[in-house]
Amino acid sequence: YAKSKGRSRYHVFNEAFHYDQLVKFDYEIALNQCIEREELLLHYQPIFDPLHNKVVEVEALLRWNLGHSGLVSPADFIPVAEETGLIVPIGEWVIRQACKDFPRIREKFGPDVRIAVNISRAQFEEEQFIDRLNAIIAEEGLTPRQFDLEVTETLVMRNLEQICVILKQLREQGYMISLDDFGTGYSSLGILAQIPIDKFKLDRSFIVQMNPAVISALLVMARAMDLDVVAEGVEDGDQLIQLMDMGCPNIQGYLICRPMSIDDLPGIWFANRHSRIG
Ligand code: C2E
Ligand code: MG
Ligand code: MG
Ligand code: MG
Repeated sequence: YAKSKGRSRYHVFNEAFHYDQLVKFDYEIALNQCIEREELLLHYQPIFDPLHNKVVEVEALLRWNLGHSGLVSPADFIPVAEETGLIVPIGEWVIRQACKDFPRIREKFGPDVRIAVNISRAQFEEEQFIDRLNAIIAEEGLTPRQFDLEVTETLVMRNLEQICVILKQLREQGYMISLDDFGTGYSSLGILAQIPIDKFKLDRSFIVQMNPAVISALLVMARAMDLDVVAEGVEDGDQLIQLMDMGCPNIQGYLICRPMSIDDLPGIWFANRHSRIG
C-alpha cells in the first residue's frame, strides 16, 4: 500500500517537473527560430530636446511578434536570450535592422538624428563584438557617429574594468555611449566619473519620485562632467515642466511619444522648422 502511494506521488511530481521543462524547452526553440521566422521587429521611441523642439535620437526597442498571442516584451524574453546565448544573433539582427530602418528615420527627423540601440552584457563579452558591429554598419552604409549604444549601469558595474576598455575603444571610433537606467545600479559617483560615456539616462524611478534637489544636483553634476542627460519615462505634463525648469536637456516617455513602428511615428515635431517634412 505504502509503496503504491509513494509511486503515484512520485509519478505526479515527475509529470509536473516534466511539464515545466517542456514549456521552457518550447520557449527556447521558439526563440531560437524567431529570426528565421521573421518574428522580430523594432519599435522606436523618440528622444526629444524640448528647448529646440527637435527629436535628437530614436531608441530601437525590440519586440517579438507571436501572431495572435501578441507582442512579447523584451523584459520577458531578453533574459532567456541572454541565458541561452541567443542574444548574440538577436543583437546583431537588431543592429542590422536599425541600420536598414535608418533612412526612413532620417527622412522623418532630419539628417542629424541618431539611432540608439540597447546592448546586453553577452554581446559585450563577445570577443568579436566591435569588429562585428563595425562590419555590419559599414555593410549597411552607416557610420559610428550615427549610433548611440546604450549600456545599463548594472552591466557596466558587473565587469567595470573590462567594459570600460571596450567603451573607450567604441568612443574613439565615434560611437556615442549612454549609461541606461542610471540610478538603479548602485555605482558611486566617483566610479561614474571613470566610466567613458557621453550621456546618462535618468531612470524612470527618479522621474516618478521627482525630487527637485536630487534631479537638479544630478543635472549640475552632468554639466560639470560634460555629459548629456535624458529623463526616461516622462508620462505627464507636470513632470515635463519641472524637468524643463531644472534645465533637463532631453526627454523620453509616453508623454512625448510611445514606442511604435517608424511609419506610425509622427513627424510633426519638425513641422515649424523643416517645411519639407509634413
Ligand atoms: P530601456 O532601454 O530602459 O527602455 C525603456 C523602457 O521603458 C521600454 O520598455 C519603453 O517602452 C518603456 N517606456 C518608455 N517610456 C515610458 C513611460 O513613459 N512610462 C513607462 N512606464 N515606460 C516607458 P520595453 O520596450 O519593454 O523594453 C524594456 C527593456 O528591454 C529596455 O529598457 C531594454 O533594457 C531592453 N531592450 C529593449 N530592446 C532591446 C534590444 O534590442 N536589445 C537588448 N539587449 N535589450 C533590449
Ligand atoms: Mg535603453
Ligand atoms: Mg532605459
Ligand atoms: Mg529603463
